[in-house]
Amino acid sequence: MDHPDPAHLFRQAAEEAARYRSTFPARPHKPADSYLESLARFSAELPSQGAPGDQVLAQLIEQADPGLNAMPGPRFFGWVMGASHPVAVAADWMTAVWGQNAGNHVASPAAAAAETVAARWLLELLGLPQEASVGFVTGATMANFVGLAAARSEVLRRVGWDVEANGLFGAPPITVLIGDDAHTTIYAGLQYLGLGHDRVRRIRTDEAGRMVPEAFAEAAREASGPVIAILQAGQINTGAFDDFDAIIPLAREAGAWVHVDGAFGLWARATPRRKHLAEGIELADSWATDGHKWLQVPFDSGYVFVRDSDAHRRAMTIAASYLPAAGETERDPSHLVPELSRRARGFPTWAIIRHLGRNGISEMVERHCAVARDMAERLAAEDGVHVLNTVELNQVIVRFGSAEPGAEADRQTVETIRRIQHDGVLFAGGADWRGRKVMRLSVTSWGTTLEEGQKAVDGILQAFDAVRMS
Ligand SMILES: *Cc1c(COP(=O)(O)O)cnc(C)c1O
Repeated sequence: MDHPDPAHLFRQAAEEAARYRSTFPARPHKPADSYLESLARFSAELPSQGAPGDQVLAQLIEQADPGLNAMPGPRFFGWVMGASHPVAVAADWMTAVWGQNAGNHVASPAAAAAETVAARWLLELLGLPQEASVGFVTGATMANFVGLAAARSEVLRRVGWDVEANGLFGAPPITVLIGDDAHTTIYAGLQYLGLGHDRVRRIRTDEAGRMVPEAFAEAAREASGPVIAILQAGQINTGAFDDFDAIIPLAREAGAWVHVDGAFGLWARATPRRKHLAEGIELADSWATDGHKWLQVPFDSGYVFVRDSDAHRRAMTIAASYLPAAGETERDPSHLVPELSRRARGFPTWAIIRHLGRNGISEMVERHCAVARDMAERLAAEDGVHVLNTVELNQVIVRFGSAEPGAEADRQTVETIRRIQHDGVLFAGGADWRGRKVMRLSVTSWGTTLEEGQKAVDGILQAFDAVRMS
């Protein structure tokens, strides 16, 4: 096989990229193909002979396109997903083009330096302690994992146990306090760390999914030995925030390390009008958030912030004679994350913050919250449509037929979601909330405006009408 002409290939990719993005916002907000249909398109025997690069790229695009979902689109409200902003995408292309292994500062000074500066910008944007160390990871799942690894290291160090050296065999038990409506990936982190996803004390929550401070206080009083408390900024369904002002001091009294999962909710701190929702959060010890959700960095991108950078490094450092030692002035990304060889995640983060600026990020977060509220009001004004949460942030949960538990409203809700996903005007998914089926709307796409939100509401009501008539 001849070496491909990179200029030709990269131009082809750029043209195809522009073509794909130009199909928005009109593109149906759903995949045309199911998984099995996609699989049928891709299925082939292992090729013995290679093929020219431009043909391979064309084939990949042809096979993938029908199975792509409209995640970059302005009416995509599924799960909580960002929309891969073009500026961050372009920077991410360069990241791949440059082919840097961003493990340490000697291997790639530019990659390490971009992270150093993007890290400082993130701390400032989110109002977190400037001395915190920052790990650039793949998402909030890994960010939570790293934050909890630092927590585990430090709470055990305080009782004389070196968990990095000795593991958990024979270690003093750690009490983990966690809200009953924490995100499922927190439990994954506990599972990876040997802390066990069932060996936790679950704290009662209120109707919005916030921990009840009195219940937390009681659990904190009863806890003995090392304690880790896990709080949340932005519940996945309601967008609610734990009461940091009330709970963090209680956790402190119990000697706990406080970790906050703020995968999307931490971004409330980036706008003056929502900042109050996450007041007091800066007093925690570690925080996790995503770059690929509200910041619009392409997948995958997340950040962990740890106040005690010694604990952070202790939990993550990978050392070997062939790797540079961490100096006073340099920052080695791999000492703050689980990976050694890794993508230069600082570049797209640097680019999107440079592009939007503090004001642009604030405007975007604010706009998404306004769209969420507008959509909720329009929906709630309709007969038989019920918004179940107070929309303070960007999350809306909706139930059709009746707000109350019951099989008929469950059916109407599930059917309406199915219709919506079939029609493709917008994309929305479902969940169970307080014993009821609900539809979830997460407003997190850079392209979403009030008008797009209104088009989406029309699409939702059309689907519900069809279900009601049937
Ligand atoms: C999305 C999310 C996570 C997991 O983040 P990933 O980026 O999918 O790894 C964790 N917690 C909350 C609250 C989330 O919304």
